[in-house]
Amino acid sequence: MRRTVFNEDHEAFRETIRDFIAAEVVPHYDEWREAGIVPRDFYRTLGELGVFGIEVPEEYGGAGQSSFKFQAVITEECARAGVSFGGAGVHTALCLPYLLAYANEEQKRRWLPAFVSGGMMTAIAMTEPGTGSDLAGMKTTARLSEDGTHYVLNGAKTFITGGVHADRVLVCARTAPPTPEDRRGGISILAVDAASEGYAVGRKLEKLGLKTSDTAELSFTDVKVPVEDLLGKEGEAFSYLMHNLPQERLGIAFGAYAQSAAAVAFATEYVRDRTVFGRTVASFQNTKFTLADCRSEVDAMQAVVDRALEAHDAGELTAADAASAKLFTTERAAVVIDKCLQLHGGYGYMMEYPIARLYADTRVSRIYGGTSEVMRSIVAKSMGL
Ligand SMILES: Cc1cc2nc3c(=O)[nH]c(=O)nc-3n(C[C@H](O)[C@H](O)[C@H](O)COP(=O)(O)OP(=O)(O)OC[C@H]3O[C@@H](n4cnc5c(N)ncnc54)[C@H](O)[C@@H]3O)c2cc1C
Repeated sequence: MRRTVFNEDHEAFRETIRDFIAAEVVPHYDEWREAGIVPRDFYRTLGELGVFGIEVPEEYGGAGQSSFKFQAVITEECARAGVSFGGAGVHTALCLPYLLAYANEEQKRRWLPAFVSGGMMTAIAMTEPGTGSDLAGMKTTARLSEDGTHYVLNGAKTFITGGVHADRVLVCARTAPPTPEDRRGGISILAVDAASEGYAVGRKLEKLGLKTSDTAELSFTDVKVPVEDLLGKEGEAFSYLMHNLPQERLGIAFGAYAQSAAAVAFATEYVRDRTVFGRTVASFQNTKFTLADCRSEVDAMQAVVDRALEAHDAGELTAADAASAKLFTTERAAVVIDKCLQLHGGYGYMMEYPIARLYADTRVSRIYGGTSEVMRSIVAKSMGL
């Protein structure tokens, strides 16, 4: 079936990214996986390539595109090559929408040029050791000083992607306590400078997959955050999160589709080469049927994410649409990638094979950005249930 979601510009961009991955990522990838992090300078290289500025207006040094499709192309190309760009996806797909929508003019001038160059990497800190799905339950506080010049930030966050390399972190914190009528009110976003006194990066967490993205604990002890670094309005963060989470979920859905497509490609290539009992694995009817099933699943996933991508670019993707797309693609990806791994036999269990890494990497897509159970709750609510 002809795919209509990408135009010539996207395809030209795809070529650039594909060449870049082959030249600058693949040769170093094993080393980065071993280290559990990409080198800080890699982000400056991505900045020079223009990857961070695609959706940033030209006046701040970007390319001024208002489409998420370029990010989708990067996701597809990384999956195809069996690599990732570390925490870069969080910088562009998660943090940038907050900066574009809620930063004032002075903040945009201060932050966006460095955002584009990779000189200032960003992360977003919502989750805490005691609360993830239930964001209204967060305990981190930001108390306004008596002279009104700064907030005093105290608390801890965990599972923060890009937390080791981040120079500025969008920290969600309570500037006012919850009330029985409104648990969600009183949360604000502060764009906290990681060089501030009292800001500490804790452990870089050892994960099952996504080995090159630095996922860390953060803690804040009496961190003074200038009022100039409040993003948007005080107390309004919950509505900002609800507004931006659909894009995050679309990105995860797209990733699950792209990883599944890559898994089918890896398995198809493998079964053609591998011989057992004097014949190729591909020659067994079981293999053909399994891969045919997987392909049809990938086709369905592609239809869903492409439609969601179009809807998002048109400003029409609802929270329930994004939740439904994430739920479907991430749950099906688990099945498809598992089947593709099975066709690799023992080699599928070896981390040197990309299928093993995909298997580990994809697991978290049913957890982060909101779990499958939370996605089901959102979809059910939209059905009036
Ligand atoms: C690799 C990785 C990277 C991450 N990156 C970031 C990041 O950059 N920034 C950030 O802020 N967070 C990040 N997270 C956190 C992530 O978003 C949370 O882990 C996720 O939202 C789930 O929260 P939790 O871990 O506290 O699980 P919990 O909320 O404790 O959930 C535990 C279980 O309870 C279930 N559950 C919860 N609510 C309901 C309900 N209403 N009905 C039925 N079941 C329910 C869940 O589905 C789950 O099965 C990351 C997590 C991981 C693993």
